[in-house]
Amino acid sequence: SKARRSQIRRTKTVCTYCGVGCSFEIWTKNRKILKVEPKPESPANGILTCVKGKFGWDFVNSKDRLTKPLIREGDHFREASWEEAIRLIASKFKQIKERYGPDALGFIASDKMSNEEAYLLQKLARGVIGTNNVDNSSRYCQSPATIGLWRTVGIGADSGTIKDIEMADLILIVGHNTTESHPVIGSKVKRAQKVNGAKIVVIDVRKHEIAERADLFIRPKPGNDALILAGVVKYILDNDWVNHEFLKRVEGLENLKRSLKDLTLEYVESTSGVPKEDIIKLAKMIHEAKGVVVLWGMGVTQHLGGADTSTMISNLLLLTGNYGRPGAGAFPMRGHNNVQGVSDFGCLPNYLPGYQPMEENVFSKFEDAWRTKLNRRPGLQIPQMIEGILEGKVHGLYIVGEDTVMVDCGTPLTRKALEGLEFLVVQDMFLTETAKLADVVLPACSNLEKDGTFVNTERRIQRFYKAMDPLGESKPDWEIIQLLARELGESWNYLHPSEIMDEIAKLVPIFSGVRYDRLEGFNSLVWPVEEDGRDTPILYVNSFALEGGKAKLYPIVWKRKSVEEKVYSITVNSGRVLEHFHEGTMTGRVEGLARKFPETYVEISSELAKKHSIKTGDMVLVRSKFGGEIRAKALVSDRVFGEEIFVPLFASNPSKAVNNLTGREIDRDSGTPGYKDTLASIEKLSAE
Ligand code: SF4
Repeated sequence: SKARRSQIRRTKTVCTYCGVGCSFEIWTKNRKILKVEPKPESPANGILTCVKGKFGWDFVNSKDRLTKPLIREGDHFREASWEEAIRLIASKFKQIKERYGPDALGFIASDKMSNEEAYLLQKLARGVIGTNNVDNSSRYCQSPATIGLWRTVGIGADSGTIKDIEMADLILIVGHNTTESHPVIGSKVKRAQKVNGAKIVVIDVRKHEIAERADLFIRPKPGNDALILAGVVKYILDNDWVNHEFLKRVEGLENLKRSLKDLTLEYVESTSGVPKEDIIKLAKMIHEAKGVVVLWGMGVTQHLGGADTSTMISNLLLLTGNYGRPGAGAFPMRGHNNVQGVSDFGCLPNYLPGYQPMEENVFSKFEDAWRTKLNRRPGLQIPQMIEGILEGKVHGLYIVGEDTVMVDCGTPLTRKALEGLEFLVVQDMFLTETAKLADVVLPACSNLEKDGTFVNTERRIQRFYKAMDPLGESKPDWEIIQLLARELGESWNYLHPSEIMDEIAKLVPIFSGVRYDRLEGFNSLVWPVEEDGRDTPILYVNSFALEGGKAKLYPIVWKRKSVEEKVYSITVNSGRVLEHFHEGTMTGRVEGLARKFPETYVEISSELAKKHSIKTGDMVLVRSKFGGEIRAKALVSDRVFGEEIFVPLFASNPSKAVNNLTGREIDRDSGTPGYKDTLASIEKLSAE
């Protein structure tokens, strides 16, 4: 009836899961979510969505949601008022700062926070506490891609938009399970192949769905992506298939040539296990394509040397002139819905918002605006904060929406560090494994319960609108951060996230034209945005973002020491599955998704299965070289090969989380852990 329909609210929102940034209208009646309706005008996805965006919202009404602040009393929590909780945090933070200095505190941002909230969190860290110890969870995934692009072209982000992926002749996918990690882009890639005749090449250790459809599938031994790409680059150089006209805009050709002087395709073949004919075939396909895009993900970045592989991807695109025009470019696939934005808006220990360098003129601009004195010392990255706790240098942490225990590498050590911390604050929707260790837990609300903006993988800024009130006493992150700042003596008085964005526009050149009224409804802006509102879907059309406007070919280390391993001879790979987002804090609480995918498994090759007499359904014990272990059921499949296993990031139980196995070694350039450089042994425990 008309009356019934009138109670139904339609609110434009942006998906809370992956970096595609699908937008749609969500139909609600009070707190009930009735349906999700994508619109043709949705800029990233049109009428497409995946199962998570369409059906993944029950967590908003989960009985597990936190609705009141919690304060630790011995080994349990008691409910507290906001006033009491905020007062306690402020006094503890002041105490720690007085006793050990501001750098004894650290701030960790979630990549699900809005842009405005990320900006406020780093403002709290820098402007109120006085430390640059503020980082975000892209440290766990995408930082190496950012470094590779900074070195070569100057901006750590996708160089074009999703449209350019659809328009390319050749789509090269390295270490990325597009279908399950970024499903809507996966559909578009497949459509480009079917409708436009685009070619797909996949370089991956695992034969996932898109690899099965690829025109060329290259399966190296783990950890050899950089070497393969170096081989391709070398072949292109030797055959003079470079774009000479484009190279007038690029420096460093001789340097790169020199660095590859001793590389032979025979060496690439014997080290990586990839036949040299495939390297030549790929080089030819790149040479013959009018436009090449490269998509890459955590299969590249979660390796020691991930920054180097990312650098080589960019070198390849530069040599062949595949930047600065439609249907070409570099596309690091950003994982979380706002992994791009949280870095863009300043939650990085060595940059001020908008990647402004830590230089005097930038510091003084922020000092004038924030009326404070800023600390000049660059801050700690997340793994360094954890080390800092163990070394007795970091005494307090404020973690927003991040289950650090589960997602950082080497769960046992992370847990030990957080358990020993003097004061831990966790702000989240759920009592996660990390929140269970906190001294104070603050209940945050979901993005359906607040306003804000996100940046998707293609640098697109989109608004999301409040569809319902926050559950119980939970609050938006920006309001909580503001409460704490006020308790610490600041006069912050933002009434709405749009006021935070107005402040940002004044201080951050790449966002100077971003205003809420320009982002109404399904309107969006792709940064950098000029003051007059003009945005930049394609970067580097006229110049690169490095000094003098020129790009730079950057040599890498392509030769790595290989270690002979006898006991721990199996390489552990990890990744997303379609039904769940990462460890499953949210999707694990969506009944339909949890039913479809209830339990963590260990995927093994038929070769390995035969060797250890393992069948699908058998319980197996995986022991890591770094000391940890997990027990889970085996799934024998032809998607993994040889001495490699795959464990989903989704952990149906903390003891099954893949990070029980990972070690703490990090990529020297980006600080990202070498999650996928984990060696292990496997044995059968019992038959089903
Ligand atoms: Fe789109 Fe990603 Fe959300 Fe799926 S999870 S609806 S692909 S944004």
